[in-house]
Amino acid sequence: MTGRPRPAIAALPAYRPGRSAAAAEADHGIVGAVKLASNEAPFVPLPSVAGAISAGIEQVNLYPDHGAVELRSDLAAHLGVDVEQVTVGAGSAGLLQQILLSYVEPGDEVAMCWPSFEAYPLFALLVEAEQVRVPLRDETFDLPALAAAVTERTKVAFVTNPNNPTGTVVGTDEIVTFLETVPSTCLVVLDEAYSEFVTDPGVVDSTPLISTYPNLVVTRTFSKAHGLAALRVGYTVGNPEVIAMIDRTLVPFAVNSLAQRAARASLAAIDEMRVRVADVVTERTRVTAALRSAGWTIPEPQGNFVWLPLGDLAADVGAALERRGIVARAFPEVGIRVTTSDAAANDRFVAALDDAANDLGIRPT
Ligand code: PMP
Repeated sequence: MTGRPRPAIAALPAYRPGRSAAAAEADHGIVGAVKLASNEAPFVPLPSVAGAISAGIEQVNLYPDHGAVELRSDLAAHLGVDVEQVTVGAGSAGLLQQILLSYVEPGDEVAMCWPSFEAYPLFALLVEAEQVRVPLRDETFDLPALAAAVTERTKVAFVTNPNNPTGTVVGTDEIVTFLETVPSTCLVVLDEAYSEFVTDPGVVDSTPLISTYPNLVVTRTFSKAHGLAALRVGYTVGNPEVIAMIDRTLVPFAVNSLAQRAARASLAAIDEMRVRVADVVTERTRVTAALRSAGWTIPEPQGNFVWLPLGDLAADVGAALERRGIVARAFPEVGIRVTTSDAAANDRFVAALDDAANDLGIRPT
């Protein structure tokens, strides 16, 4: 082996992004495949956002503002927090990695419910943490069990709301109980990558909680509802001391100037963004109803995706969907996650699932 990589890194599995439509087309000799595997938005950028990106092209010879002062200030105003209580990173994934780099040492524990976002275990391995995984209950984060698993060695506990891949939520009351239960030595990372899509009235804005619970950090992203996944920009809200520690591990200039401009423009166009989100939610409701009336069991989806808890059928059904041009995300032995896209793609998915089940001799479960 060339050089001497850290054993933890040499052993690290690669992050598995959603398969592209092109890869599925090549594999199966088909055309017109649609990717519903990465929970991306189906929209082109809003005109004002596209304009902000174009205007920024003139300045790509210059480094961006490392401190993202203007974007942070806009976010603080938008969220009703102080500017010291918010920071930005290269996607919320970048921020999640920074949080572990800033807080977790080898041998410390990182707790989560499972299955959840696949990057958590990778980032835990990166910092050589011990992972404590608590099973979901009814496809949902089991906060009492997660609280019981937190020990004095636990530096970070992830709460994913809505959860990826199951799409379920826990109520704000339950989160408050969790925060009251876990010791303040444990950072509670509330990952709200999909919060804009939540319609459950039991989930309310969590950012006011940061003033009561200094160990709470909320992460959100411009990748999903704002439709800026390619630009890599996310944000974290929390107590200023924690925010400053997270900032220390930001790669210099990691949030590029086009991303900063686009994010600011998207915040300025928040009402237009909300209309788009409402369209996705309408589609989510329609897809869920169609799947349930066909006999499938679907936990209540609160992100921009639906979850089919198919257990050991997941891999076969995922492959059968792919042969029909629907590239979903199959978690072998667990289930299939399918992004809610535009009506045409969603209809194709519902029809392909029906066809795949018939072909495989599976009855909806
Ligand atoms: N958290 C969750 C739960 C996610 O599903 C994702 C993206 N799949 C992320 C964080 C990271 O998204 P990004 O880095 O694009 O903000």
